[in-house]
Amino acid sequence: MPASQRRRKPPLRAPRGARERALLTVERLKEVYPAITELQHRNAFEMTIATILSAQTTDRSVNSITPRLFERYPTAADLAAADPADVEVIIKPTGFFRAKARAIIICARALVDRYGGEVPNRLEELVTLPGIGRKTANVILGVAFGVPGFAVDTHVIRLTNRLGLVATRDPVKIETIVCRMVPPEEWTGLSLRLILHGRRVCEARRPRCEECVLNDFCPSSLVKPNRLTPV
Ligand code: SF4
Repeated sequence: MPASQRRRKPPLRAPRGARERALLTVERLKEVYPAITELQHRNAFEMTIATILSAQTTDRSVNSITPRLFERYPTAADLAAADPADVEVIIKPTGFFRAKARAIIICARALVDRYGGEVPNRLEELVTLPGIGRKTANVILGVAFGVPGFAVDTHVIRLTNRLGLVATRDPVKIETIVCRMVPPEEWTGLSLRLILHGRRVCEARRPRCEECVLNDFCPSSLVKPNRLTPV
């Protein structure tokens, strides 16, 4: 087939004005939120396991069981050798506990077998671990290793669309577009702060635009701006 007839993928385009809104979002959210994850952890191993456990549940629920879990299994080698039934009892409050027990034990075994029990600090390696997708890998990179990563979860998908930073729900495309507009040193913080803002203000069912620090430039705002540009 001639090259001219080959179907080309459309370029990844951000909506008009997206870069300005993205940079304003970075600055405004910095005024309100620290760049933190609400998942308690002391090292990359704990962060990795806690992140897997956080699927389909709240960080609070994960935090309620991780101290006991990591007291019993402080290293990847300890968890790799665990009896799944014992792990299930500890992690039951997080839901889907059988599947999650299996997932964290398999992940721990992969860490032991392939990485000497240490969590790797490269995206390409992290995503090869069982139970670790691109979103989780980016969270681990940013939070545990300080390596810039823009994690795209359901909150980030919703907020980046509402703010007109992107016009797609595809996580990989969102990551690519946002990372082009925002400097690398801001990727981790922006992702973590968008997640906090999505939980506390820009909720899925009822965005609280009247309380939102982004409402003067957000195209989806339901209220009048609370920051007026001085004349
Ligand atoms: S103004 Fe409303 S829709 Fe826009 S980010 Fe804030 S809460 Fe969400």
